[in-house]
Amino acid sequence: MKSQIKQLHQQLVNKDISCTALIQERLNALKANTNNTVNSLLDTLALDLAAKVDAKIANGDTIGLLEGIPFGIKDVYMVQGTYTTASSDLLKKYKSAYTATAIQKLLDAGAIPLVKENCDSFGHGSSSENTIFGAVKNANNPNLVGGGSSGGSAVNVAKDYTVFSIGGDTGGSVRQPAGYNNVYGLKPTYGRISRFGLMAYASSTDCVGPIAKSVEDIRIVLNVMSGKDGKDQTTYASTEISEESLSNSKDIKTVGYFKNFIESEAIDPKIKADFLATIEKIKAKGIEVKELDFFKSDILVSTYYTLAMAETASNLSRLDGSNYGNRIDDKNLKESYAVTRSENFSEETKRRIVGGNQVLSQGFSDEIYLKGLALRDSISENFENDFKEVDIILSPVTPGTPPKIGDSLKDPHAMYLSDAYTVGFSLGQLPTLTAPQGTETGVQITAARNNDELVLKFANFLKDTI
Ligand code: GLN
Repeated sequence: MKSQIKQLHQQLVNKDISCTALIQERLNALKANTNNTVNSLLDTLALDLAAKVDAKIANGDTIGLLEGIPFGIKDVYMVQGTYTTASSDLLKKYKSAYTATAIQKLLDAGAIPLVKENCDSFGHGSSSENTIFGAVKNANNPNLVGGGSSGGSAVNVAKDYTVFSIGGDTGGSVRQPAGYNNVYGLKPTYGRISRFGLMAYASSTDCVGPIAKSVEDIRIVLNVMSGKDGKDQTTYASTEISEESLSNSKDIKTVGYFKNFIESEAIDPKIKADFLATIEKIKAKGIEVKELDFFKSDILVSTYYTLAMAETASNLSRLDGSNYGNRIDDKNLKESYAVTRSENFSEETKRRIVGGNQVLSQGFSDEIYLKGLALRDSISENFENDFKEVDIILSPVTPGTPPKIGDSLKDPHAMYLSDAYTVGFSLGQLPTLTAPQGTETGVQITAARNNDELVLKFANFLKDTI
């Protein structure tokens, strides 16, 4: 798939299409869609912006590459004046007071936001069923889940309702739905893109991540959003990734994969066979492939969920109805907090708040939370050693194929285990991309910290190889 951004840009410049017609067509498709991808449409704003782009073109002014390009935003990003619900009852009527840095950069480049997209509430989930807006349905089969938590975003891209969408990835929420709907989804190195204005789930792994249909579109959008931001002290300055640099994959000489991921009993036999066939094709291209040792999936999943629950319990403590959201009054302040939170948070979110407060509490934190932190350090160390030996780590995105709608809600533990292959890379804060190839739910390409360019390079190579 070629860059849709470039193709649409050319059509706009050549006046083959008007921006207003382009935006109207996509808005209509979003409005009519039956996959439950939309929390709110930004139609007035989008059409206003489109008219401005058309006026510029009519005037003979040059337009930037992203000017007039329609995109979607997971409903956990602040966009001033728009509803930002996190798919929750608590924030159902909350309107953002400011705009997230990453989104502001896209707006400054002229991209046009169409929609706030359905997702698991506060990013809690792997299926986009934990939402007050109805389960997101998979782009390929409406009986299956759209994946999560950025399910609405991945489905919108897959269905061509948006040219790209901005998801959020804490433990796999961009990569997994990208895999389930066969599109590209990048979780950049932690800190490459500012989190300011992204509703906090687990602050130590939260990442802003683009979803699109080509490596080139991922590159374009990543470059625009990246950079140091005084409002997020974990950000760093990165260099732009050029298009030319991605066409040369000669510096990728060694690829590794985790033996225990592939030998795990939980992996679907077809995903396993397809992944191993992909490895053979890579070898046939003269790349050396090494098997690597890694932590067991259940250790990765429990470490991730211990830390993610602790952080979300802490982050969500501010949502008590006094400053934001749907306050429910009761006989005194304490009761008001309790009833506001128990009525307005979903079962899954409450499970995480309770679990998180438990692992942080006196008597438990040494045994559980601090152990989780220590394990995270060991996981990072393991990655550091791996990247002394290999340039890229390749893995499946998920052990299984998308579940049927309803199944994950019945068995949250099984849902947590479905994150087995994505959460480790989040804990390592590494750049990692789902490419829609190699297995039914894609393959995951990971490089060392700050090496996002290498990830995209390998994706380009893979696209022509398998
Ligand atoms: N499924 C994982 C979770 O529920 C990841 C979610 C995410 O990345 N936001 O925590």
